Amino acid sequence: MSCDFLALAAAGVKGLTPYQPGKPVEELQRELGLIDVVKLASNENPLGVADSVKQALTQGVSELHRYPDANGFELKTKLQRRFAIEANCLTLGNGSNDVLELIARALLTPADEVIYSQYAFLVYPLVAQALGAKAVVTPAKDWGHDLQAMAAAINEQTKLIFIANPNNPTGTWLDYTALTEFLDQVPEDVVVVLDEAYTEYVERADFPNGLALLPRYSNLVVTRTFSKAYGLAGLRIGYAAANAQLTDLFNRVRQPFNANQCALHAASAVLDDQDYLQRSVSVNQQGMQQLTAGLDQLGLAYIPSVGNFVCVNLARDAGAVYQALLAEGVIVRPVANYGMPQHLRISIGLAEENSRCLAALKKVLSA
Ligand SMILES: *Cc1c(COP(=O)(O)O)cnc(C)c1O
Repeated sequence: MSCDFLALAAAGVKGLTPYQPGKPVEELQRELGLIDVVKLASNENPLGVADSVKQALTQGVSELHRYPDANGFELKTKLQRRFAIEANCLTLGNGSNDVLELIARALLTPADEVIYSQYAFLVYPLVAQALGAKAVVTPAKDWGHDLQAMAAAINEQTKLIFIANPNNPTGTWLDYTALTEFLDQVPEDVVVVLDEAYTEYVERADFPNGLALLPRYSNLVVTRTFSKAYGLAGLRIGYAAANAQLTDLFNRVRQPFNANQCALHAASAVLDDQDYLQRSVSVNQQGMQQLTAGLDQLGLAYIPSVGNFVCVNLARDAGAVYQALLAEGVIVRPVANYGMPQHLRISIGLAEENSRCLAALKKVLSA
């Protein structure tokens, strides 16, 4: 090979590090010959696939020789009824990560700046840098987004701001007053992406609903996913809600069949499955109590979280603890790539999974 193909890369792509996903169960089983593995690494729904989804999928399978409905009529109609968002304000994606990328591709050039917080979701730098836009990272406050710092970072070049509420991996959140006071300060030609991947889990009265804020802020884009509380991470389906003009832009860069037919059917079905959603939320609440009580007992500090995960401060190199937990058959998520080398992120599982994780942590930390 005499050509240096790296030199051919687009400027923004040269400096990119690929997203590191949670370790798959099968991979650990293969590597260590383990059978009984608990995965609490990717904020997946521990309830498993909803029965309503399994039923919808049997229908979808017999149509797999056809292209999906490129406009996602059925799902958009359901979303419209449920959240009072017009179909021409919805963009469907192959997971909400896909939608985040569509937003970036529709708007960003190398002349633009993108603001996000320290410890924000790593997909934001990925999509912004790939397009050569300049990332402006504001320091976190108590591990969460410092909205004052973010507002102060806005200048003539700012095109896009990413905010996750609650944030992953920290689990921190912004209340209604803080968020709306921030949005009031953002110029209308700066687009704010509010990533609400975990919103269904939050039951605080002061927690904002981004979809309800859309009529008030024309520059607001809200993204949501079926990967977490709806239990469809493996199917890849999410969406953005925004004004019709922005939505038109996102759909110009969207591949026509980016949301597959099975995912469309499954999402439509589970959106009507209030029982599954309620169980997801209550299992998460109980699991959060169990896990944090266990961490308290172990004397471990953690960042208060309203998501389906919690970031534990081990006050030592977390990489070694992560490896030792793997040997115990427990997969959690290292977050050193977020600049948090002493933390591990643990997803909330079923009661027995949380117990397994706590017991493994106790064993590993006392070794
Ligand atoms: C999990 C997650 C998503 C959702 O990703 P999908 O592509 O929809 O699976 C989006 N944003 C954040 C912050 C997340 O943690």
